[in-house]
Amino acid sequence: MANFYCEYCGQKFLTVQALTNNPCMQHPNGPMKGKHKLYEGGEKAQYVCKYCGMKNSKLSSLVINKCMKHPNGPMKGKHSPAL
Ligand SMILES: [Zn+2]
Ligand SMILES: [Zn+2]
Repeated sequence: MANFYCEYCGQKFLTVQALTNNPCMQHPNGPMKGKHKLYEGGEKAQYVCKYCGMKNSKLSSLVINKCMKHPNGPMKGKHSPAL
């Protein structure tokens, strides 16, 4: 059975409904300011940041850290997984 992951925080959900119905602590607008967003890339052995190319085997570990090549400026946002 496939799991679903939030693109912002990397949290794992069993259904898309549970994911999109709950607020996200790492929403770009601020903690709990919006819902989790479905990461559409699915489950992978490695996740790669689309801005800087950093890799991590855990999506939650990748997206928790700030990105040196974020479009808003260095360290102005978190890594974001490529699909
Ligand atoms: Zn989330
Ligand atoms: Zn990055």
